[in-house]
Amino acid sequence: MAGTVSRPATDFIRSIIAEDLKAGKNQGRVVTRFPPEPNGFLHIGHAKSICLNFGIAAENEGGICHLRFDDTNPSKEEAEYAESIMADIRWLGFDWADHLYYASDYFEKLYQYAVRLIKDGKAYVCDLNADEIRECRGTLTEPGKESPFRTRSVEENLDLFERMRAGEYEDGSRVLRAKIDMASPNMNMRDPVIYRILHVPHHRTGDKWCIYPMYDFTHCLSDSIEGITHSLCSLEFEDHRPLYDWVLDELNVDCHPQQIEFARLNLTYTVMSKRKLLELVEQGLVKGWDDPRMSTISGLRRRGYTPESIRNFCERIGVAKRDSMVDMALLEHCVREDLNKRAPRVMGVLRPLKVVIDNYPEDLVEELEAINNPEDPGMGTRKVPFSRVLYIEQEDFREDPPKKFFRLAPGREVRLRYAYFIRCVDVVKDEQTGEIVELHCTYDPETKGGSAPDGRKVKATLHWVSAPHSIRAEARLYDHLLVKADPSDEKDDADFKACLNSNSLEVLKTCRVEPSLKNAEPGSRYQFERLGYFCVDSVDSFEESLVFNRTVSLRDTWARIEKALKK
Ligand code: ATP
Ligand code: MG
Repeated sequence: MAGTVSRPATDFIRSIIAEDLKAGKNQGRVVTRFPPEPNGFLHIGHAKSICLNFGIAAENEGGICHLRFDDTNPSKEEAEYAESIMADIRWLGFDWADHLYYASDYFEKLYQYAVRLIKDGKAYVCDLNADEIRECRGTLTEPGKESPFRTRSVEENLDLFERMRAGEYEDGSRVLRAKIDMASPNMNMRDPVIYRILHVPHHRTGDKWCIYPMYDFTHCLSDSIEGITHSLCSLEFEDHRPLYDWVLDELNVDCHPQQIEFARLNLTYTVMSKRKLLELVEQGLVKGWDDPRMSTISGLRRRGYTPESIRNFCERIGVAKRDSMVDMALLEHCVREDLNKRAPRVMGVLRPLKVVIDNYPEDLVEELEAINNPEDPGMGTRKVPFSRVLYIEQEDFREDPPKKFFRLAPGREVRLRYAYFIRCVDVVKDEQTGEIVELHCTYDPETKGGSAPDGRKVKATLHWVSAPHSIRAEARLYDHLLVKADPSDEKDDADFKACLNSNSLEVLKTCRVEPSLKNAEPGSRYQFERLGYFCVDSVDSFEESLVFNRTVSLRDTWARIEKALKK
């Protein structure tokens, strides 16, 4: 690739819209829409589309972005999904104001549009079943075969369509098709089905309808009815654009929105299709749509992601015309960057190792001053209790330290953050198992605050908590959902489950955290010094049994990747 483009101020869609405004198109209006199908929870890919559509509306004076539920498939949709979608969009920081719409509200209008197509000889009722229609469709290299029902009279079509609506026919026995061109090189133009019979109640229209319009017919007309100016969708709809335009042209509607396609977001080490996410939920492979390992907005929120970090991520990846795979490390980098600014620092020990300071007075407790956020002095300081018995991290001690291990070891001195230098003088082991039970150390009272008056240095600073003051907590550490960066490499895409990471969740139940976390609110976020950013779980955490989700570790792989790219 020739040189990397650094964060363009704009993208090709914004350029098109700016040109349209300059040319005085659409009476100077910009109306976009986000059109989810309420058949699952939103994922980070949807966030890209939300940021684009709502973002463009916000950037243009008088711009509006509609939220429209594309609810034309009654069998897969549920009200619960619509609720979650609205909550997620709001949480991301966007607002559709009064512009909430449902494609199902247009069912009557859409029916009338279909009747008009029939009257104009542009649509016909076809009695072929789904298999037969498929067989007649032809291939990319061969034209399709015309349906024997293609030449039905307008009167007969009107009569049959009306009776389809009246419920006289069984599911799948008949469809309404647009009469376009069975020899078109574009398969979507080979007399596509625009209505099907489905005797299934709809979560909003109940039993009123037993025929439902297909996506391609519904979408363009919904856009038109709402006066959308720019209909932004992902690249897989590029081949559907001729059909989008055909329907609107044939019906000669007043408003003909411009469809513009952009590349979908793909992220490494995860899946991003509602169908696959649903499969994980239904088969119990994750704990629900909001499992913190999921690429869903609700999963990311529960994991501790901020709306700002997701919006910033969407801005950085930009909008382009070519499909690509974005590195998960970039998303992690964005949340780290945001939490670095806003998350208070605290100390917590994931795998505790007891330390007794032999020369520290038995009943003394000192309240030591700790800085809440070195990045933001305005966040102030807090007091952390220090006493004779502490916990440090097991991995911060080695009885036999290898080269370059600078943390605690027998005879060695290290600094305890905000406290003192301590030196390890003894290691106590379980006689039977040989496991280390506790360490004995001495402290140097002269080093209070973390420096020695004689100028001697230590090579490591450890986090710690006071044993009697600390609170027990559970920590959930997450890893990628998949072991493969790009599961579509697999021959069988359906087999993405073969790539599931069996170690994507590690639960630590015996953690100890500093007492300031006693009243930590669900959803609040912290940096555990040296360990990463953590968020109080919003479902399983209670005052007496705190649960922390690790949002992200402190190791920034993206910064490394970026540095390597610059070289
Ligand atoms: P999925 O394949 O995950 O089910 P979808 O496209 O079927 O996604 P919809 O509810 O139909 O889901 O999508 C609503 C909008 O979000 C559409 O305009 C779609 O183009 C957009 N969208 C969905 N996935 C992505 C993605 N990965 N990147 C960008 N936009 C997306
Ligand atoms: Mg869809």
